Amino acid sequence: MRYHASVKRVCVFCGSSAGSEPAYRAAAREMGEALVRRGTGLVYGGARIGLMGAIADRVLELEGEVIGVIPRALAEKEVAHAGLSQLHVVDSMHQRKALLTERSDGFVAMPGGYGTLDELCEALTWGQFGIHGKPIGLLNTAGYFDRLLAFLDHARGEGFLQSEHRTMVQVSADPDDLLDRLAASTPPGVEKLIGLEG
Ligand code: AMP
Repeated sequence: MRYHASVKRVCVFCGSSAGSEPAYRAAAREMGEALVRRGTGLVYGGARIGLMGAIADRVLELEGEVIGVIPRALAEKEVAHAGLSQLHVVDSMHQRKALLTERSDGFVAMPGGYGTLDELCEALTWGQFGIHGKPIGLLNTAGYFDRLLAFLDHARGEGFLQSEHRTMVQVSADPDDLLDRLAASTPPGVEKLIGLEG
């Protein structure tokens, strides 16, 4: 089975900071442009700061759809973006991740910190278990994720990740190429997880 070629909404995880290099903000804007060109909606964490704000602003400038999901505590600190197509305010980070997953057809992680890694790892873990069957990609701007990818290879080599789960992560530095890869990729077979094939 292939993932459905039409990914209508993509959930993007990315930094609440903008990073030290202008390339990161530029990449967030380019990802926003690629989404709008395809008529694909953006689902994200609902903040107006960092790379999160940069991608949302660009999609909105181009009159695309942006759905934000933010926990009440962060919304009350005025981190929430005021101009989104839809903003859902939820009670916890857990509810946020569940709703981000529910409202999207695939996931992209861009450069970010712990929050981004947390969201990426949850999407991967849930995908590995077959809790969702949505494609997952890394936008590897300026090689930001090279060391993470090397670590995943290490985990596979040491027997903690099966090859099929290692390769479920699509990787590209180019937003259009990454979105193409997401649409064309194949979900992992859930039966492999329980170790039937060693
Ligand atoms: P980080 O990568 O640690 O900057 O966290 C960014 C990710 O975690 C985003 O995808 C958000 O969903 C969530 N997050 C972390 N910090 C914030 C914040 N201050 N405002 C909104 N969302 C945040």
